[in-house]
Amino acid sequence: MDYAITTAGTATVSELLSSLGVDPSGLKAVWVSLPAAAFVTPSGFDTQVEVAEGTVLRTYDAKNCMADALFNIVQELRFATECTCTFGHEGGYQIATILKDICSKKGKPGDLALMRDLAPVMVSQALCDEGKAIGRAVIQVLDAFADEIEAHITKKVCPAGSCRAFQTYHVLVSKCTGCGKCLKACQDDAILGKPKFVHVIVQKNCTQCNKCLEVCPEGAVVTAGADKPKTPPKPIPCKRK
Ligand code: SF4
Ligand code: SF4
Repeated sequence: MDYAITTAGTATVSELLSSLGVDPSGLKAVWVSLPAAAFVTPSGFDTQVEVAEGTVLRTYDAKNCMADALFNIVQELRFATECTCTFGHEGGYQIATILKDICSKKGKPGDLALMRDLAPVMVSQALCDEGKAIGRAVIQVLDAFADEIEAHITKKVCPAGSCRAFQTYHVLVSKCTGCGKCLKACQDDAILGKPKFVHVIVQKNCTQCNKCLEVCPEGAVVTAGADKPKTPPKPIPCKRK
């Protein structure tokens, strides 16, 4: 969630959160936009940061994916500057491309190492504040959340359950009435079922189009990230009538 700062000065992240009425419990990080351009985890909430009128404080909790969070920060910084210096402009493009791929299930081994190599060079060589800020943000996020980001590549999961490409669709046995609406809506032959049987989604055929979830009148279709509900391997008679 974004909060706008209305006065310039220096304060700790805890003080800023308190002044905005934000409860810090449950937060896993806070991004403070320029001039601080700092990505701060709870252990650093007592660190002083510089803010200006219009600085944005963005909070993240367990449901926020840090790869996606970093991608959005990088994009905002890239488009906030007209500077075309090699390390700021090209470096930002490279970092954004890598993060977009990671969030789209196209991440490659070595992506994190590449970002780790590129980021310090951006901090020292970029000519604009935004280019330097991208480098700093990458370093700070990778220091705190490398495992979460790496899981997208090595385990093919988004631990926060937020990146759409990693979501899986499931039909809950407790809610399905076997009405068949999802079966009719799916254009990818990804659903098995017959009347009054709990329908089953075949994950390898599913393209995450979301149509089954939209048409189900019972709320029986759900998405899942790392924790998936237990579902039968093939249709079984419905418990619900
Ligand atoms: S999300 Fe789309 S492709 Fe996947 S099961 Fe549902 S309707 Fe079919
Ligand atoms: S998942 Fe929903 S739409 Fe599909 S058969 Fe069950 S109740 Fe009907």
